Amino acid sequence: MQPKDQGPSPSSFLPPAGTERPPRRSEEVENFDVVVIGAGVSGMYALHHLREMGLSVRVYDGASDVGGTWWYNRYPGARVDGPGSPFYCYTFSDELMKEWDWAETQSEQSAVLAYLEHVADRFDLRRDIEFETWVEAVRYDESAQRWTVETSTGKRASAQFLICAVGALSAANLPDFPGIGDFAGETYHTGRWPHEPVSFAGKRVAVIGTGSSGIQSIPEIAKEAAHLTVLQRTAQFAFPAGNRPLTPEETKEARASWGAVKAKMLANPGGFPADTHTRTALAATPEEREALYESLWQIGSFKFLLDSYNDIVVSEEANKTMADFVRRKIREIVRDPGTADKLMPDHFVMTKRPILENGYWETFNRDNVTLVDLREDPIERFTPNSVRTRTGEHPIEMLVLATGFDAISGSMLRLDPTGRGGVHLKERWKDRFHNYLGLTIAGFPNLFVIHGPGSPGVFYNMPLGAERQLGWVGDVIRHLRDRSLGAIEATEDSESAWGNETDAIANATLFPRTDSWWTGANIEGKPRYFSAYLLGTLYYQRLSDVANAGYEGFVFEPAHSAGSGSASRRSRALDNCLDLGPATRRRSPKTSSPE
Ligand SMILES: Cc1cc2nc3c(=O)[nH]c(=O)nc-3n(C[C@H](O)[C@H](O)[C@H](O)COP(=O)(O)OP(=O)(O)OC[C@H]3O[C@@H](n4cnc5c(N)ncnc54)[C@H](O)[C@@H]3O)c2cc1C
Repeated sequence: MQPKDQGPSPSSFLPPAGTERPPRRSEEVENFDVVVIGAGVSGMYALHHLREMGLSVRVYDGASDVGGTWWYNRYPGARVDGPGSPFYCYTFSDELMKEWDWAETQSEQSAVLAYLEHVADRFDLRRDIEFETWVEAVRYDESAQRWTVETSTGKRASAQFLICAVGALSAANLPDFPGIGDFAGETYHTGRWPHEPVSFAGKRVAVIGTGSSGIQSIPEIAKEAAHLTVLQRTAQFAFPAGNRPLTPEETKEARASWGAVKAKMLANPGGFPADTHTRTALAATPEEREALYESLWQIGSFKFLLDSYNDIVVSEEANKTMADFVRRKIREIVRDPGTADKLMPDHFVMTKRPILENGYWETFNRDNVTLVDLREDPIERFTPNSVRTRTGEHPIEMLVLATGFDAISGSMLRLDPTGRGGVHLKERWKDRFHNYLGLTIAGFPNLFVIHGPGSPGVFYNMPLGAERQLGWVGDVIRHLRDRSLGAIEATEDSESAWGNETDAIANATLFPRTDSWWTGANIEGKPRYFSAYLLGTLYYQRLSDVANAGYEGFVFEPAHSAGSGSASRRSRALDNCLDLGPATRRRSPKTSSPE
């Protein structure tokens, strides 16, 4: 049976072990302070942090262990890219940082998963997580001021707070090509890779997609397969990963200066341990630019993004200097000029997710690799043993879908919570992913989305982003509990102001002008706009300003008599609800009297 969140799927696709649903077996409802959906990097930290606050927490995940992204994405070549090791990690425990050794600068998937398993053991997380359990329905009960949760195992829960740590890159996108269900060979999606080894040896393989997962996996598959056909929808910019062993000195240095490193990450707009600078490409001479680009190309990693120029994503002219440099590099590496032509990206560089590669361009010099540019030679249909494009037939025994995700909003839409008045999120998010602070949604009280639309999300070092967002959420919960309040809810006015702020930042850049999964362009019918809040540093400042202003832009409800919070605190609610901060007093009709 297909896991709930996978969408349409080719008939030969098998879900990874452990995601099949057992029959329903219980109608009992368990009560918690908080339910967390998702046991990836974010859900794991949510559990740890909120439990440390003394709250009762239950986590559900459809996967059979912790790790989220790193549990699913086991495809060959899967690695961390930004910010690289040892900085893709939790920062909440200095001991944890000091006891975990990373082997490489771009850690492979199994290393990140091993780290997360260690975190789960060290902080005894699994005792409060139910695995192999999909949350199938969540509904806000207005009179009880609680969320009720129904799961695929039949277990039900109720909690005052709901944290959706469902992943910005977890809803796999399985496009419905004509005849794909007829294909009789093995089919895999990179984001749902099997746990058992997959052998490409002696097989004719096709990979569709040349985003991060495609570009990471293609060189590895080509080394083993009899023949690899790369079906390219969009030519991409990709930069050398520069992956190498992490030296003991680097690890020692990072540990010794961990306090300063953390401070640097907090001060950086992307949460990276990098200095900010004021260089612009347009102020540099062509020779200076060439020298800088060349040196960054040689070093590899995200340095091309972090240590080049500040005007690359805001000025077309500056952008072209970098784009031309990368296009020249591709032509230098790829020997066949016709193939190099097909690999030439024509969008603004850095306005799709920057990709780090390990031998991707060189792969096209191999005799066993064919590149098909689907823009000029589109897929007509799949047959039981081939993929037919306009100009010919490519026999294959295996199909790898590196087709990415319904990103940022997709996993929330698949969850489709039902809020106040029975309104579904799918209805509220029909035209735009309305949100306030990238964390909350009007009509969905006490619900928090981690790495959702309107937050820096995928534009930030994501473990650090999760810690910071969840730190803020923990403070909100404390605020409510201390005052015996029943609910906090964003107003539609604050959503629309936040939307304008998010748009204004994005519109000062080139990002909205390129079709990408950041703008929803990879999913048919999805609202097409750039939904991330681009400046991480400003974002976290805004979160703390809002809190300091008494949670400006939110309304609060006192706890209802039979509702949320602890009974002993309920009587204080009626007193405290009269002092809820300036924003609430100004804007909230709901605080005037408890229902
Ligand atoms: C291949 C790849 C490489 C990446 N590399 C980097 C990197 O280098 N740096 C970086 O910062 N980020 C990177 N990312 C982004 C990565 O997703 C985040 O870093 C981080 O792991 C996200 O953690 P999360 O807990 O927020 O979400 P996820 O890890 O996606 O976890 C979400 C969990 O929610 C569960 N879930 C969803 N819906 C339901 C439901 N209805 N019921 C039950 N469970 C549900 C899923 O099963 C999943 O386990 C990468 C992503 C991918 C795919």
